[in-house]
Amino acid sequence: MSILFIPNDPRAGNPPNVAIAPHDDRPNGLADFVYQGVAPEGEFAIGTDEFLFWQCREAALQAIDLWEAIDQPLIAWQPGQTLRLIQKTPGQPQLNAFYNRHSLSFFEVSGASATYQSGASTDVVAHEAGHAFLDAIRPDLWDALFGEQGAFHESFGDCIAILTALEDQVGRQALVSGDLLRQDNFVESTAEDLSHGIGALINPNHNAAIPRKAFNTHQWALPSSLPVNGGPGALINEVHSLGMIFNGCFYDTLTNIYQAGADHSEAGLLTASRTAGRLLAAAARSAPLQSRFFQSVGNAMLLADQDQNAGVNAAAITDGFGAHNISLSATQMLAPTNVLAGRAPAGTVSNVRDIITRASRRDLVSMVGEATQQRFLAKQYSFGPQQRVAAVAHQHKVPLGDVSEKLEGVVCLVQEDVLIGADDGQAAALGMMPSVGQSVAEVQNFVYSLNEAGQIDIDGEGNTEMSHSVHRMGTERRLVRTRFSCACGRCHQTPSQNPFA
Ligand SMILES: [Zn+2]
Repeated sequence: MSILFIPNDPRAGNPPNVAIAPHDDRPNGLADFVYQGVAPEGEFAIGTDEFLFWQCREAALQAIDLWEAIDQPLIAWQPGQTLRLIQKTPGQPQLNAFYNRHSLSFFEVSGASATYQSGASTDVVAHEAGHAFLDAIRPDLWDALFGEQGAFHESFGDCIAILTALEDQVGRQALVSGDLLRQDNFVESTAEDLSHGIGALINPNHNAAIPRKAFNTHQWALPSSLPVNGGPGALINEVHSLGMIFNGCFYDTLTNIYQAGADHSEAGLLTASRTAGRLLAAAARSAPLQSRFFQSVGNAMLLADQDQNAGVNAAAITDGFGAHNISLSATQMLAPTNVLAGRAPAGTVSNVRDIITRASRRDLVSMVGEATQQRFLAKQYSFGPQQRVAAVAHQHKVPLGDVSEKLEGVVCLVQEDVLIGADDGQAAALGMMPSVGQSVAEVQNFVYSLNEAGQIDIDGEGNTEMSHSVHRMGTERRLVRTRFSCACGRCHQTPSQNPFA
């Protein structure tokens, strides 16, 4: 039996729809989906529930195939071994898709003589699966509260969609034979149908009314320096838009690797795509949680390349990031910058005292700054078998009343890593040193951008288009993430002045 399958996005135009044998169910012992509305196998008309079930299932399983080709067998999702795959959420017409640790959820809405099914787009399904893959390996990013960290999660979803599309041989052949790789094309541009819906049903001037592009010239800038709204495709201080900077870094790295290689056939493109994907996966595992997270991931890609490929792609990576105003140096990331009192970290780390002594901690606090309810937690990063680096996670609370009156009395818990190594046998902080003042300003700016995008469910309404909500924890009201949502948020014609810019 075969099914009808859209290999990219319904509105991408390429590659053509195909009849294929669907994937078998996942073997026992590996992470799997719990399916809803299971249909009998067959070639059903596009738009029908039967088609949508098989389309969404196949897209999700193809994304897992890609992920396992660049990472490791996917044994478990973040919350456990199963995740619900909801190809169409009944009774909730929305232009949306989300991942919330319980499901990958998709939606259908009709209007302007069209029906938009987010679960019918292989791009969108792979993007949401990308959130789930990243959450499985980096659960600390779930509640990360710096703009670039939220934006990286969105970009990672886009990169998984691009890499999944590049697994398709017909698509690669079209890119190579048409010399399309360094032009606008159907792979670097993602979720075309959803963007079309936003333009047609919400507002043609909405920022998300054209697809997010990875072939772009966006230049990194401090998130707080960007406007919170802008016309279609403009770079703004909103996670999906900001993620396009990293999309650009990654896509340029991938195409640099391909162009530097000897094989310029579609097979050579697959090799380059897998190489870039492996570097991304390794870096996503190992990048220290810092405010300049795009740079942190880029440096971790350089270290992963030393480990995996003897550093042959260093120029491809540094040029790829440099084209978007992000300067990389793995040496700088791991160079001692501040000597601390106390001995160097122990070889094996089981708690924070193995990394920093009481004296080192005092020194660290005097450098980082005093913060509300701060504490240090033990962490360790591995950049390949040869290089393990100890880190302490500096955790503290930030009040959010200054962001908006509605957030008066609400706090959030912020975490930032400090790498700790040795300098002459003494403890030393390596690379970038956080500062409490800066992290408070960055977090408040991020929460401001969330609030402006209508992403904070303050009254606990359970709105599925919002990414964050305020939860009561004992006597505290804390801002927490509830999902990675692709909804477009509100349309702001007159954004308020950013007080954190
Ligand atoms: Zn997303």
